[in-house]
Order: sequence, then structure tokens, then C-alpha cells
Amino acid sequence: MTVLIQSRDGDAPQWRPLMQAALPDHTIRVDSEELDDPAQVHFALVWHPPAGLLASLPKLEAIFSMGAGVDHILRDPELPADVPIVRLADAGLRQGMVEYVTLAVLRHHRALRGYIEQQAQRRWAEIPVPLAGGRRVGILGLGELGRACATALSGLGFEVAGWARGRKEVPGITAYAGADGLSTLLARSDILVCLLPLTDATRGLLDRATLGALPTGACVVNVARGEHLVQPDLLALLESDHLAGATLDVTDPEPLPAEDPLWAHPRVLVTPHVAAVTRPESAVPEIASNVRRMERGEFPAPVVDRGQAY
Ligand code: NAP
Repeated sequence: MTVLIQSRDGDAPQWRPLMQAALPDHTIRVDSEELDDPAQVHFALVWHPPAGLLASLPKLEAIFSMGAGVDHILRDPELPADVPIVRLADAGLRQGMVEYVTLAVLRHHRALRGYIEQQAQRRWAEIPVPLAGGRRVGILGLGELGRACATALSGLGFEVAGWARGRKEVPGITAYAGADGLSTLLARSDILVCLLPLTDATRGLLDRATLGALPTGACVVNVARGEHLVQPDLLALLESDHLAGATLDVTDPEPLPAEDPLWAHPRVLVTPHVAAVTRPESAVPEIASNVRRMERGEFPAPVVDRGQAY
């Protein structure tokens, strides 16, 4: 049995020793150039695989994503129709995302930008902020990562609500669903966090209408995908002072071009898609246990619902 590891970002070799240790009875191949016989590959672990690569593996039993999102796999026009796609849902990703979203929410909540500006002017003055209980955070997406962030922020005392496709029960969180639910969530969110998967239904969701439905002075945190956000609409709402600030870990395109106005905007923080970085040491045990599960004739988890594209 061969496992193929293929990553657009050139980090596949780092995965080999860990994967080999976790699956010592398997052959591990890094990048398709190492393959002498594509028919030997039963499992593929990928990040942005080249179009047609997965279709060229006739015995493929499962496609594992190196990240939580699977839009990088589903965009392959030749993707084999009946091979399960398995998302990555590991503790390392959850922890990384909770850290980043907490940092971003606290940065907005505690007016950190204002204090950085004041320090540059050697100015000693309080910027009044409410306690966390007076700040309403809205989270779009209550999946693996959205739920973990909602729970952590609620634990810090924030008034947290979330939005998902279906009705969700998350202790301490008000959960909304559907179009009406979205309007209600937006109208009560001082800080909006996007943790949705990128699908046809969510692409461009953060546009002038959606962001304009937030209360005046709201802040936006996008940690999902750059294509969720219509960047010119965000800039217009910042210019009109409807929005007070944004933290963007993801942009469209990536990397963000040097001439993009987001880089220099005083009320925008841009980070290079690092909110929750996949760590092979915490991801490999999950992936290897799914391989073992499949070899025992059991189903892997979590499997992507191709109809919903996540
Ligand atoms: P997940 O477990 O699949 O959860 C997705 C959530 O979004 C679910 O609650 C789902 O609703 C909801 N949803 C999907 N489509 C919707 C729609 N049309 N309307 C309303 N709600 C919708 O995903 P996850 O593991 O939490 O990851 C979320 C995303 O984070 C990933 O897809 C990826 O793009 C991004 N991400 C970013 C980084 C980074 O470093 N910046 C790292 C990892 C992941 P239901 O619960 O009702 O199905």
C-alpha cells in the first residue's frame, strides 16, 4: 500500500518521516515524480493538488486534505467522483485557531490599535472599552473551528452567537441558522468572525450588504478564505466609518499583492494565512488512524459531503 504526499507549498518532505513512523508497513512517496506506478497509490494526502493528479491514481481509496478546508481539492475539474475526501480535524488546528481568533477579538475589544497610535504620539490617555460581557461577538460557521472559538470566547465572558446551515446546540452560545438567522446575528455583532468553508453558497458573503448590516463601529475578523470577503466593499465601509477595523488572515489573492491598499490601511491587520497552521505532528496520527480504519473496512471521518462542498 502506498501513501502519496503532495503539497503545492513544498512542505511534503517534512511529512515523510512522521507518516512512515505512523504507517511502517506502507510505502510513502513524496510528490508524484517519485511514483513509478500510479496504480500502487491507495491513499493521497494533498494540499492544492495539481489538476488531474488524483484522477491519474486508479486505485485511490481516499483523499486526505492537509488542511481543514477542502476547496483546494474540490476545484480540480478532473476530481474522481467516488473517492471519499477526508477533512483534517485535529487538536492542533483547533488550538491554533482558538489562539488567533482570541487574539484578534481581544485586539479589537481592547482598542489595541488606538494605544499603538497613542504610543507613537507619546500620549497617555485611556480609551474606554466595555467589559467582555458588553461586547457581542458573532461567529459565522459553527463547525470544528467555529465551535471551539465560540466556546473559548464565551469562556472569556463575551456575549457570543453563531450561525450555521443547520440548527446547532452549543452550550452558552446563541445559535442561528438560515437567512433570517444571519440578519439577526449581524445586527447584534460588534465583532464578526468568519469561519465558514468556501463554497458557492458562501463565496462573497461578506459584501457591502452583509457588512453594512453590522452595527456602526463593528470590526471584522476573516480567518476562513479570502474569497468570502469582497475587499473593495470592506474598504468602502472602513472609509465611511461604518466599520472600525478588520483583521484579515486570508486574502484574495494570496499572497496579497504589494500594491493592495489593505497592506497600508491603518485600521486593517493583515497576516499571511497563519491562523491555524497544519502541524504534521498532530495531523499525522489522525490521518494514520483513518487509513487504519479504512483498512479494517470502516469509514474514515470527517468525510466531505460533496453536495454541500464541505
Ligand atoms: P466545518 O467543521 O466544516 O464547519 C463549517 C461550518 O460552516 C458548519 O457549522 C456549517 O454549518 C457552516 N456552514 C457551511 N455552509 C454554510 C452556509 N451556506 N450557511 C451557513 N453556515 C454554513 O469547518 P471547520 O473545520 O470549522 O473550518 C472552517 C474553515 O476555516 C475551513 O473551511 C477553512 O476555510 C478555514 N480555515 C482557515 C485556516 C487559517 O489558517 N486561516 C485554518 C483552518 C481552516 P453546519 O454545521 O450546519 O453544517
